[in-house]
Amino acid sequence: MEERQVPFVYGGELKKYFQLYMTQVLGRKDSTANHYLQALNTISKYMRQLNLVNKDVFELGSLEELHRAWDKLEQDSVFSHLNQKGHNMYSAGFQRYLEFAAGHSFGKLADSVHQLDVPQAVHEPSYMSYEVWHRSGILRGQCLEYAHYQCELHPEHQTFLAESNHRPYMEVHHILPMSLQGQFEHSLDIYANIICLCPICHRQLHAGLIAERRDIIDHLYEERRDRLVKSGIELGKEEFERMILPLHVVGK
Ligand SMILES: [Zn+2]
Ligand SMILES: [Zn+2]
Repeated sequence: MEERQVPFVYGGELKKYFQLYMTQVLGRKDSTANHYLQALNTISKYMRQLNLVNKDVFELGSLEELHRAWDKLEQDSVFSHLNQKGHNMYSAGFQRYLEFAAGHSFGKLADSVHQLDVPQAVHEPSYMSYEVWHRSGILRGQCLEYAHYQCELHPEHQTFLAESNHRPYMEVHHILPMSLQGQFEHSLDIYANIICLCPICHRQLHAGLIAERRDIIDHLYEERRDRLVKSGIELGKEEFERMILPLHVVGK
């Protein structure tokens, strides 16, 4: 039997999400989306040559990294010549991706965010002194935009303005924790599994009374079940609870 190499899938989810975003959410033609993806492929090729990425542009996990890599690429004479010759089609493609990555129109997505729920490949874990599963800073920002920087459990919860973006300070939480990734075939770092919370509700989910946490988890299960299934995460309610709540609980 022939042996196959497992592809290195780091950053793959953003490529898939970007494509769906273009076609399903913005309603662009497949050919238009492919045009942008091809531009991003070429950009990736040049970024690889300059050692700015390992595989492609989709592995860059923050807006800062994206801007930094692009600034370096623009200084490359071969690439900038190519871009000029192509009537700046590469800059245009990258600009589109940047807008998507910044979550610019995510605040207006409403239910069309469901179009983005698909099973995603699991990232290779990075082995350090312990296992760290990749989390995307871009998905994080997009989820905050989508939730309008409101606590998804209690929209009335007020925080304070954050210096970084002058928006209400909010946190993102993975409903099924990333530490469970090894038990799943598909990624847990997905829109369907991420929730925007105020710091109080967030801490409550990590440290609150088990009985109250169970109520919240049940509520989240009902709310997210279909989207999780679409993302390749299928669990019964009891299993869902059991996986999230700590094993040894005193009392009930
Ligand atoms: Zn959390
Ligand atoms: Zn809250």
